[in-house]
Amino acid sequence: MPDGVPTPAIGARVVVPLGSRLVTGIVVEAECPSASRVGLRPIRRVLDDRSFVPPEVVALARWTAEYYAAGVGDAIPLLLPPMARGDRADAHKTTRVASITAAGVSALEGSVPASRPLTPKQREALELLAAAPTGIVTPDLAARGIAADAISRLDRHGYISLRHARVERDPWSMFGAGSEPVRNSFGARSELVRNPFGARSEHAPNAFGARSERVQSGVRAGSDPEAAGRQLTGEQETALGRLRRLAGSGGFRVALLHGVTGSGKTEVYIRLSAAVRDAGRRVLMLVPEIALTPATATLFRAAFGERVAIQHSGLGDGERHDQWQRIRSGDIDVVVGTRSAVFAPLEQVGLIVVDEEHDTSYKQEEIPRYNARDVAIVRGQRAGALVVLGSATPSMESYSNAAAGKYDRVVLERRVFDRPLAAVTVVDMREEYAAQGPDVILSGPLRAAIDDRLARGEQALVLLNRRGFATSIFCRQCAGTIDCPNCSVSLVVHGEGNSRRARCHYCDYTQRVAPACPHCGGEYLEQAGFGTERVEADVRAAWPHARVARLDRDAIRRRGALPALLARFRDGEIDVLVGTQMIAKGHDFPRVTLVGVVSADVGLGIADFRAAERTFQLLTQVAGRAGRGDQPGEAIVQTIHPHHYSVELACRQDYAAFFERELRFRRAMRYPPVVSLVNAVVHARTFAAAMNDAAAIVQRVRDGAQAARGDVHVLGPAPPPLGRLRGEYRAQLLIKGTSRRRIREALQAAIAAGRADLQRRVVVDVDPLNVL
Ligand code: ADP
Ligand code: ZN
Repeated sequence: MPDGVPTPAIGARVVVPLGSRLVTGIVVEAECPSASRVGLRPIRRVLDDRSFVPPEVVALARWTAEYYAAGVGDAIPLLLPPMARGDRADAHKTTRVASITAAGVSALEGSVPASRPLTPKQREALELLAAAPTGIVTPDLAARGIAADAISRLDRHGYISLRHARVERDPWSMFGAGSEPVRNSFGARSELVRNPFGARSEHAPNAFGARSERVQSGVRAGSDPEAAGRQLTGEQETALGRLRRLAGSGGFRVALLHGVTGSGKTEVYIRLSAAVRDAGRRVLMLVPEIALTPATATLFRAAFGERVAIQHSGLGDGERHDQWQRIRSGDIDVVVGTRSAVFAPLEQVGLIVVDEEHDTSYKQEEIPRYNARDVAIVRGQRAGALVVLGSATPSMESYSNAAAGKYDRVVLERRVFDRPLAAVTVVDMREEYAAQGPDVILSGPLRAAIDDRLARGEQALVLLNRRGFATSIFCRQCAGTIDCPNCSVSLVVHGEGNSRRARCHYCDYTQRVAPACPHCGGEYLEQAGFGTERVEADVRAAWPHARVARLDRDAIRRRGALPALLARFRDGEIDVLVGTQMIAKGHDFPRVTLVGVVSADVGLGIADFRAAERTFQLLTQVAGRAGRGDQPGEAIVQTIHPHHYSVELACRQDYAAFFERELRFRRAMRYPPVVSLVNAVVHARTFAAAMNDAAAIVQRVRDGAQAARGDVHVLGPAPPPLGRLRGEYRAQLLIKGTSRRRIREALQAAIAAGRADLQRRVVVDVDPLNVL
């Protein structure tokens, strides 16, 4: 370290040489005993004299990296605010980027000719540039009051270099640490493209693009203004009392708040948060979806005023940066946010709430593949805080921890005002097909129920968890299908008539629907299967005067479309809302009295051991959207598996029975939560290469496990259901065992023993939620 450079604090930003560049990093460890051996180079500058990121959050990131088998450099970007980009109108224009040179760093360190000392403005510019590994575009410097002539003078002295660059739309992180700042940037767009599962799952918190707070606050909150002063129900009172005592004990505890849909969990969170705040500690409130943050934040603002901040990836960079700084400065008591908010720079955390803890959106499907619920528990443990996991349909993992006594279980068994849960009717679609032919989409009972709601001026939700118009196209002559050229799936038809397109839900490849079969030239191409677009069209055709809208990822691609749609529905401007599981999540729409499930079977067809759990959760949650106001609710569930236990027990809303039944299956098959699971997928250019590499890893893990007599069992290698993705072949292996650490170490050793490029081609997922 150069003379005069102080020992930096954990979490401080430092400028370090990396190759021929200077980059900004975050200090994760104060000393490095092996420094001389690995040839570390000295820090050039320390930018902060105290921690920029709280040390406990740095430690949390290190835990996350290790547990999820990622690099520390992959986890650090989770901790940092994005840098405001300045004028977005500059996107795509050619502009100049300024970067600091080595001479510039020396100048900052004081080695300047006495005749030419740095002016305060020049110093300021150099400080800014020293903290920006990828440089700063000149308009952004101008926005910070650095005039053009100051920039050209620095350039003439050789303190900075200027290059022309095309500015991409992705925001660049000023603090992008590590060697690949671009890969780790917060760019919502690039995250989405990189996420190999983004196209499949409907949970894409980043798909909405950034939205301004102004639009968001246009969505009204779920409660009336008098909410703050209202009387708790007896059950809420009891639950709050228990949770307050747990929070007051001052130590780490986890409580599972198991409350049926509409039981008033949010009210309990708010009162508990107030108690924690009054005791001088702070609150982290996690929700699964960006769409749920505005309503939740509004409720918290009613109780906490301006000391509430929001953190999620849908905020614009500038907004996100400001919120981050407010949290860091200590002016905030409550942070409301999605999974990334678990790394918020909040200190003195006394309570972490994970609402809808079972939701798969808490899992990040890209490196580091963390589950924010589990990171929240670790954060709570380190902070000596109470962690509350809330759900009407707890995950198998959380419920079994509660059953084992590891978590305190707190229940809300009734809805507020003793409102009844929705009455559920199951429609056996095999009978409908027999009576009306194979093309029925809306059954007789569902049609009658929608008729009824329209006549009474009430609202209906219609769920089908599959996007598009038709799910495949096939040739009547050769039976061939039109498949994605890059992935092993068939293309999905979107749109009708002239706007008809066939699209891959994994890689977004799109083509016009050809008039003839690409395999045999046959002229009779048929569409099969149906998705939300088709349901929407059928509903419009059946009730031409009804106001119908659709809510799925395709419908809300445009920025601001989602809050606008939710606001219209809440304000009664939509009668029937058709959508994917996005309509099932957490929303509180008091005028919905009917929920129709077009096909409860969509999830059951997926080759995933969690299929039954997902189906049970989705059906219970969507039925829970009905009857939350004064009028009782009804749910109609169409299925060809009326006797599958996930369907039957969801219709009876019997969580306990489902848990017991599902646990038997998990025990028999040795799946989580009975054992731990790690998924590894090998990517390669050919199928044979993927399988060979995977087989070699399997062998090495087996040999290692045998030597260590460890409880590590490998399954595979096998081509996963998605054998080909984005032009690459994939081979999968699953490892089960009782010790996650042992599994991880065995796998990492097996990968490290392979060729150098293997590391890059294997994606390791610890506690995977998706094994496709
Ligand atoms: P959950 O999250 O458990 O499904 P919510 O927290 O959304 O349920 O509450 C359901 C509805 O009941 C909301 O409209 C909420 O404002 C209302 N509510 C909650 N608690 C009370 C109460 N004590 N008195 C009256 N209404 C309540
Ligand atoms: Zn594809």
